[in-house]
Amino acid sequence: MRRAVVLGGSFAGLLAARVLHDFAEEVTIVEPDHERAPATRSGAPHRDQLHALLAMGHEQLERLFPALTDEMVEVGAQLGSGEQIQFYTDGRLKPSVPDARMIGATRTFIEDHIRRRVLDLPRIKVLPHRSTGVRVHAGRVDTVSYVTAEGHRDELPADFTVDAMGRSSRLGRWLENEGWPAPRVERMQIDLGYATARFHRGHELPDTVVAHSTPGPASNYLPSVCEPGALTAVENDRWNVVLAGYTGYRPTSNPAAFLTRMRRCVAPIQQVADLCEMDGEPTTFHVRDSRRRHYQDVPRLPGGLAVVGDAFVSVNPIYGQGLTLSALHASALDRYLRTGASPHRPATGYFRRANTVVNAAWTLSTTADLAQPHVTGPYPLGYPVVRWAADRVTEASIVDAQINRTFMDVLHMRRHPRALTHPRILLRTARTLATRTA
Ligand SMILES: Cc1cc2nc3c(=O)[nH]c(=O)nc-3n(C[C@H](O)[C@H](O)[C@H](O)COP(=O)(O)OP(=O)(O)OC[C@H]3O[C@@H](n4cnc5c(N)ncnc54)[C@H](O)[C@@H]3O)c2cc1C
Repeated sequence: MRRAVVLGGSFAGLLAARVLHDFAEEVTIVEPDHERAPATRSGAPHRDQLHALLAMGHEQLERLFPALTDEMVEVGAQLGSGEQIQFYTDGRLKPSVPDARMIGATRTFIEDHIRRRVLDLPRIKVLPHRSTGVRVHAGRVDTVSYVTAEGHRDELPADFTVDAMGRSSRLGRWLENEGWPAPRVERMQIDLGYATARFHRGHELPDTVVAHSTPGPASNYLPSVCEPGALTAVENDRWNVVLAGYTGYRPTSNPAAFLTRMRRCVAPIQQVADLCEMDGEPTTFHVRDSRRRHYQDVPRLPGGLAVVGDAFVSVNPIYGQGLTLSALHASALDRYLRTGASPHRPATGYFRRANTVVNAAWTLSTTADLAQPHVTGPYPLGYPVVRWAADRVTEASIVDAQINRTFMDVLHMRRHPRALTHPRILLRTARTLATRTA
């Protein structure tokens, strides 16, 4: 293709641009935030919240940008492995996974490294403007329109356009304006509050890179009973700490209240509250809903169009899936284009591939969210049985290393959630729990 255009140059847009660079003579990213310093970028205000990069996302990034991990570690990122990665459920430390690896860095740091790599590619261009619409002609998106900061309007011809404008993308409305159907939007109200604080990091926890605490079956998944939180050692000798809660139990930006909640959390998080100095104030963020757009079901889709990242699906962030989904969408786009598909045809093959991972992530996060009393549906078929089995596997994963390995592989999106209902896992769960009660 001659020109591919990516609308939005945040995490998903950068990864899509990297992939498209292998197929297009020119890739143009349209991103109004481009020329702003990281601290003043307003397009993705949640960037400052603690972001965990799951193992699958990390693998995909390393595949797209070889030696990215070494490059980041050289300038301060932490690479945790084995026992340095600590997951707690209901306050109990789970068995470690010996070959697990997780990168300790802020999202801004990871994204800036990726941005640099992408902008170094010879055929990438950036327009620091806001896109305002697409035009469909002869059954395909062939033009993107935009407006500059000064209000000047212009257009850009495109062979292939990717929507990476995040969860508030207006692409559906733009398609309707052109006489094409918009995708159905599915939502689950979660009313989640997040707060992230930074702390100076010394040698207080030499054996911890990531510590993560979540309520489980014993606390009925209630944050008010078992304080959820996460801690990551990041660049510039800092700890990043995030606390989360729903509805009336949302964390605030009050430093004293933040420290009080940290002291109710698991040991490493308590220790950081007691031993380290907070750097600035906690930053809060509110997520009203999880949402997905069903592009794979749209009866008539114009050619030359794909959707990646949060514009496709945006799930409850406490499961840390968003960045990894963006990376898997980029991978699906790569696979699709490698089939030799014409960029001008509807990208149904891409949406089918990408929807497999969207389904898996959506099922995992929404099924877990339904355990919250304020989340009232929609309930999938057979939910009480699924919930009962998931509770038992979660309990067994706290004490059995083999079950926990599968559990962590699913959590890190390296395996499909159905791996947890494999007869071998269910049998081992039954045995583990029977031994525990005997
Ligand atoms: C509080 C919170 C915590 C999270 N924690 C994690 C985590 O631990 N791990 C994880 O993997 N994920 C996490 N996520 C999810 C992750 O942040 C998202 O999945 C990720 O940001 C998606 O990237 P994106 O590029 O699709 O969208 P965004 O990052 O939202 O970027 C959208 C981009 O589009 C641009 N844009 C918007 N409109 C236009 C327009 N008209 N024209 C051109 N450009 C436009 C914006 O300026 C922006 O740069 C978290 C999310 C939240 C809210």
